[in-house]
Amino acid sequence: MTKLYAVYGVSGCGRSLMPVARQQLSREQDVSENQTSEIVFIDDALTEIAMVNGHRAMNYTQFLQEDVSQKSVLIAIANSQVREKLANQLVQDHISLWSVYADNVVLMDDAQIAEGCAISPFVSITSNIKIGKCFHANLYSYVEHDCVIGDFVTFAPDVKCNGNIHIEDHAYIGAGAVIKQGTPDRPLVIGKGAIVGMGAVVTKSVPAGVTVVGNPARIIEPK
Ligand code: UDP
Repeated sequence: MTKLYAVYGVSGCGRSLMPVARQQLSREQDVSENQTSEIVFIDDALTEIAMVNGHRAMNYTQFLQEDVSQKSVLIAIANSQVREKLANQLVQDHISLWSVYADNVVLMDDAQIAEGCAISPFVSITSNIKIGKCFHANLYSYVEHDCVIGDFVTFAPDVKCNGNIHIEDHAYIGAGAVIKQGTPDRPLVIGKGAIVGMGAVVTKSVPAGVTVVGNPARIIEPK
């Protein structure tokens, strides 16, 4: 029986997450089962099967043609709209969304994380947290207690997400941003599709769809 795993995206995000995927697979593999498994890259820019960082790399059509008993895919593309589009395609094709966690991730109590997440090395997810589909938490980020995070949310490296913060679907939080904690009665909310610039210090809720930058973070108007 062969299981085929894939990291979808062969650009920066995918090549950074492949080692995390290998760690995940080595924890999942049950040596007592007579099973072989392989992790490949999928990227739609490829026309022919190639080798990338020691793994076979192919486009999605070629991946669908692989004859194996089970397929699981991690979508390793930072653009959250692309992640949603590809996740819908995978569901339609009855292929499961794979979640990968680095070996040294810290997960505390009652951290509920939906399918398809990529949790990079040195990330901490503390207690009583709910996170939606295809979440990306890049290197050194943390999520403190009682946060609620929607679907297709992306954290660049070193995001500091403090307690009682709600982050809605498709929000993007830039590298090194700090978000001030909310309270149980009044969580700080990052609205749907909002972008928090790198290094921003977010002290109050951010409306849906806007971009905030700076310290304290302020909305910048599109040019
Ligand atoms: N890609 C794809 N299928 C899609 C959209 C994107 O295979 O429908 C691939 C694209 O060819 C590229 C990667 O995903 O190799 C995205 O790379 P990019 O450098 O834009 O960003 P990253 O997410 O790696 O930071």
